[in-house]
Amino acid sequence: MTKYIFVTGGVMSGLGKGITAAGIGANLKAAGYNVGILKCDPYLNYDAGTLNPSEHGEVFVTKDGAETDLDLGHYERFLNIELEQSSSLMSGRILSQVIQDERKGKYLGKTVQVIPHVTNKIQDEIIKSAQGYQIMIVEIGGTIGDIEGLAFVEAIRQMRRRVGQNNVAYIHLVYLPYLEASQEIKTKPAQNSLKVLQSYGIKPDLVCARSDHQIPASSLEKLSIFADLDQEYIIPLPTLDNVYKVPSYLSQFSITKILSDILNLNQSQADFSDWEDLIDKINNATKPIKVAIVAKYLDNQDTYASIVEALKSAGWQLGSKIEIVWVDSEDLDHLKSRLKGSQAILVPGGFGSRGIEGKIIASQYARENLIPYLGICLGMQTAIIELSRNQLGLDQANSAEFDSSSSDQVIHLMDQQHHVTEKGGTMRLGDYPAILDPDSLTYQLYQNLNVTERHRHRYEVNNQYKNKLEAVGVRFSGLSPDKKLVEFIELDQDIHPFFVATQAHPEFRSRPMNPHPLFLGLISSALASEARPNTLSRHK
Ligand code: GLN
Repeated sequence: MTKYIFVTGGVMSGLGKGITAAGIGANLKAAGYNVGILKCDPYLNYDAGTLNPSEHGEVFVTKDGAETDLDLGHYERFLNIELEQSSSLMSGRILSQVIQDERKGKYLGKTVQVIPHVTNKIQDEIIKSAQGYQIMIVEIGGTIGDIEGLAFVEAIRQMRRRVGQNNVAYIHLVYLPYLEASQEIKTKPAQNSLKVLQSYGIKPDLVCARSDHQIPASSLEKLSIFADLDQEYIIPLPTLDNVYKVPSYLSQFSITKILSDILNLNQSQADFSDWEDLIDKINNATKPIKVAIVAKYLDNQDTYASIVEALKSAGWQLGSKIEIVWVDSEDLDHLKSRLKGSQAILVPGGFGSRGIEGKIIASQYARENLIPYLGICLGMQTAIIELSRNQLGLDQANSAEFDSSSSDQVIHLMDQQHHVTEKGGTMRLGDYPAILDPDSLTYQLYQNLNVTERHRHRYEVNNQYKNKLEAVGVRFSGLSPDKKLVEFIELDQDIHPFFVATQAHPEFRSRPMNPHPLFLGLISSALASEARPNTLSRHK
């Protein structure tokens, strides 16, 4: 019988509910339980694929090609698992299934209603996604009180009766603001949120209280009264200096014991040695390395969450503290001065022509100044455009995405994309294999000829230009098994110490305890750059 832990949030969004859910999951996993995790997003989208990253942050892609909320990235990194579509449930998906059922006549003439039809569908999906797990953590996105969230909250309320009293635990995460004028932590918004939750028929079993300040015992006492819980069930969660400290921080509050008691589980001894090793590495990573990320969605740095985590993890592994230099790819006047002084340059994924020239210049700057470069998806395409313009003399070289009239479309639509009219869920998505060139740096990094990475793109390298590019030092270091798609490129090491790019998104498979080889390669090369004799010829 699967046990369910439902995590809701109150007061406001952005509290780190996903990190908390993942941290709790990591505790249960460390105690030997088989833990699954699901994010329910009440907004009406079908998936996260068409969401604006400035508003919603990164679109995380699973191995089976689901375009999901970035919390799935936290879950994968904290639990060291690979999730699938079944770990992401958005209202649009539920509602479209209900409508399809209605069209098929499955409701036998009944009036189709939020309760029971939508709420049952939500419960069915939750139960389906929990198959095979001892414990299923279900995070409900948004804030208690949101209109969109009501059906989800009602569905999880009903779950306790559906699957049994001792098989469900409710955790509510609240925020305690700090008033500078009176220098005190306030609990009123949290009290209100607990009242709203209770008015929906959910009495939390555990309350986590987030705050940017130390939380006094008196505040915890107040929360215990309003939540109607003993104080040991009120967990203070001050902001920690690193999210990977959350699992061991939570363990100090016997979170596994508390949840095992509520859920009638036999508690086993937790093994936290991996987390402790990681924290040691984090604390000892001191050598600063500046990495420029040349990006355009700078109003929300969550857009690049997995890339930032992959960079930092590679840094910790190598004893280095990564300092991200955010470079606005639209600010061409200051671009080069921002890039100056960075020991590595990364051009991440992106869509549309805005900011593209800045990214192309950044690829060129990294190449000409022998700065370690990692191009991710769009960052590989900008490298190809740059090399075509500046090394092959094709002034008009561009991607068909940015200039459909260009005479040299060195990046063009993939064959299977020509007839696509609907934007949602139609890119080349999820895991695809590639075969590496055994003589390449890419192979040296992976130490494997057959690699699989996640993808999210419509455009690809135009194979007609490959020979010419090879002649100026480009190595097509990884191709799809049918050799039709370029998956990895690099510059020969006699012209650049580390210039590697991929059509894939390796950041999604990087783990804090097992950083991705391409990111390790980038940071190692940056660390070595000071020691490296400057024997490479500049290739202009
Ligand atoms: N816009 C490019 C494409 O669709 C790159 C996509 C990306 O960077 N994820 O191919």
